[in-house]
Amino acid sequence: MCGIVGYVGPQAAAPLLLETLQKLEYRGYDSSGICVIHQGAIQVAKARGRLRVLQELTRNGQSLPGSIGIGHTRWATHGEPSDVNSHPHLSQSGQVAVVHNGIVENYLELRDFLSEKGYTFASETDTEIAAQLIDHCYHGDPVQAVREAVSLLTGSFALGILFRDHPDQIIAVRKDSPLIVGLGKGENFIASDIPALLKHTRDILRLDEYELAVIRQDGVQVFDRYGDPVEKEVQHVDWDPGAAEKGGYAHFMLKEIMEQAEVLRDTLRPRIKDGAICLDLKHITPEDLRACDRIYIVACGSASHVGHVARYYIEKLTRVPVFVELASEFRYMDPPVTPHTLTIVISQSGETLDTLFALREAKARGSKVLSIVNVVGSSIANESQDVIYTWAGPEIAVATTKAYSAQVAICYLVALYMAQCRGTLPETRLQEDLAALSGLPELASRALQAQDHIQYLASLYFGCKDIFFIGRNVDWAIALEGSLKLKEISYIHSEAYAAGELKHGTISLVEPGTLVVALCTYGPLQEKMISNIREVKARGAIVLALAPEGTPLVEETADHVMYIPRANPLLNPSLAIIPLQLFAYYVALLKGCDIDKPRNLAKSVTVE
Ligand code: GLU
Repeated sequence: MCGIVGYVGPQAAAPLLLETLQKLEYRGYDSSGICVIHQGAIQVAKARGRLRVLQELTRNGQSLPGSIGIGHTRWATHGEPSDVNSHPHLSQSGQVAVVHNGIVENYLELRDFLSEKGYTFASETDTEIAAQLIDHCYHGDPVQAVREAVSLLTGSFALGILFRDHPDQIIAVRKDSPLIVGLGKGENFIASDIPALLKHTRDILRLDEYELAVIRQDGVQVFDRYGDPVEKEVQHVDWDPGAAEKGGYAHFMLKEIMEQAEVLRDTLRPRIKDGAICLDLKHITPEDLRACDRIYIVACGSASHVGHVARYYIEKLTRVPVFVELASEFRYMDPPVTPHTLTIVISQSGETLDTLFALREAKARGSKVLSIVNVVGSSIANESQDVIYTWAGPEIAVATTKAYSAQVAICYLVALYMAQCRGTLPETRLQEDLAALSGLPELASRALQAQDHIQYLASLYFGCKDIFFIGRNVDWAIALEGSLKLKEISYIHSEAYAAGELKHGTISLVEPGTLVVALCTYGPLQEKMISNIREVKARGAIVLALAPEGTPLVEETADHVMYIPRANPLLNPSLAIIPLQLFAYYVALLKGCDIDKPRNLAKSVTVE
């Protein structure tokens, strides 16, 4: 996730690049940079921090004359936010400048390859490798160089590229990450997303996979992956700027829910390579994981619900006991940490103060700490021995959705990796599970297709005063998150209960008309769930079940069913949360709530 822009035309490029980047700050904001070609030289200005730092540095672009340029607002994935890691990246010869959105997955191999050819690297980014590779492939023809370099890249990328020797053109190319070309009158643009361009043009070309565009002041040529010219259809956009920022969705939360298939792909794909798990742990060794005798998972809010899902998997696959603790409690509970304890902390922002303090407590007591974090270079990432980034991109809505799903996906990988290190999972089963995980993004996108049905169900129940969520085993862990989502944004009182526990107290609250959401994805206990559904129905409850497609027993017993695609059971929690997020969203929408900024809540909780 990040924002890319580019401009070629009669105007001064730098102020225009800054102005268009401002519209993309929701896509990335840890650093930014621009470069322009002027009098045969590429001039770069870039800085860590919000865009205003760059605006000041360049006196709103005045210090960089020139009428062709590219710009970037970054959401770091490789290398912490810093001046040197900011884009654009220049090749060593100064010939090529690149802005990039995405992840070059084979950057380490390419780095070795280029090192042998005498290239050295200034930054820690995967992007700089792409810049040097294009330079290496360049022998006078920019299009040829980019085509050749791109054929060697794996992963996801949208690239905006300048060549010093060709000061009249920008080259743009993409795979998996978005990129559009804006068509003006005597000027043309590139951008990651529509909001950047609305002030200048509403006529755009959307580049398809591997398409390459050459953008000049007087025209744009597009080539397909084989180098053949393609005629692109010009699209006219009539969105208002507010809607455009949200990708046409009414709220960031819905946009982020709908992005989950893509986020899961970005999170998982670089970590599963040729049947091997690549977590790139630097300090926590396989030997540490073999010696580990207990695990604490420490987090707050939704991230602690991720911990509950993870606990089932880690215990099942590795037989290591797992304790899921709220960070605010862990710090003061005198936890019996041993040198063989592994502490896993989970935080979207990486700045959650309760979690940071808990991390310090665990470290002080001699535990190794592995963090799962979305923001590169954040305090939690910096202070843990190892970090696995979720690469979910910036999450703007206060109620987490895509970051939660990415955290769950990382936890599967951690569980499988530990099992592999400890030899507790046969290789065939490991391969089966990895293959299933690789298919998760596709299944998530199928689960998202239930959107209309879920909206209909929400229209039946948005007037409820109390809603119960029940489930067993991992379904209980998902019920916790489904219930929290609903509470956070719709302000409806809700409780999540282990289904077998309901009759030990809370069932006294069930009365005719009470809505009970019953999660029935965990196969081994499905019959027990049917009994629990019957218990609440006998007391007048209406039951909205959640089950894999084709589950007749659930269909016969419940009043309504939300379906998820049938899949390897490992994936059920990741799929089950999707309809629950959508349900919460539509209930809140129908109630007229302030969905992206629910009352009393903050995105990053940096107080104890
Ligand atoms: N992987 C690149 C980096 O870390 C690009 C990240 C982005 O899309 O902002 O610099």
